[in-house]
Amino acid sequence: MRVRATCICAVANTFQTWCARLDGAALQSRSPGSHYWIVDRDWVGTHEKAQAGGIVMSSPSPRVGIAYDLHRLVEGRKLILGGVELEFAKGPAGHSDGDVLSHAICDALLGAGGLGDIGTHFPDTDAKWKGVSSLIFLEQTRKMLDERGCRIAHIDAVVITERPKLTPHFPAMRAALAKALGVAPEQINLKAKTNEGVDAIGRGEAIAAHAVATIEC
Ligand SMILES: [Zn+2]
Repeated sequence: MRVRATCICAVANTFQTWCARLDGAALQSRSPGSHYWIVDRDWVGTHEKAQAGGIVMSSPSPRVGIAYDLHRLVEGRKLILGGVELEFAKGPAGHSDGDVLSHAICDALLGAGGLGDIGTHFPDTDAKWKGVSSLIFLEQTRKMLDERGCRIAHIDAVVITERPKLTPHFPAMRAALAKALGVAPEQINLKAKTNEGVDAIGRGEAIAAHAVATIEC
């Protein structure tokens, strides 16, 4: 019998949540160096025990998602980036708060999980999402990944804008993004670029972001 299983060692992030549903006695008996496995989230046993029962284990494998997003910068809108409000004369046009960095990260995570895209899950035609913090999209995406037994391993993102200077705000952004995604800030890397004065971004008419997300399922 082939059963999809995950070694506890590889799911440290979601371990606490999952183990709440598991038999504490089985976990306490864990000996150093041994691997315990979760099957269908409610069963724990050693690899040997599973093999004796004819179960073939498979370890989680990495999956990668890529994403790009762009918003026009207009007057009368707040500039929210990575869940943090920055002081600036313009902000992104958009149905939600227009957080281009959160949108790119959300899309990259959905891509890695084979879950489609941000427009499918959080359509800009739905009044429910009007003016909301895009961190909500990240929280929902994290839940979807969690339900599939996927763990966020790492996110790398780059924001492209002429102004304002972003680097001083990265610690606050990483903290906000990490909280929404249930990961450590060290699992999120942010970079800033200008467009050297070229095209709409270079003229300060738009802001864009690219993101790559690595997950393990
Ligand atoms: Zn967007």
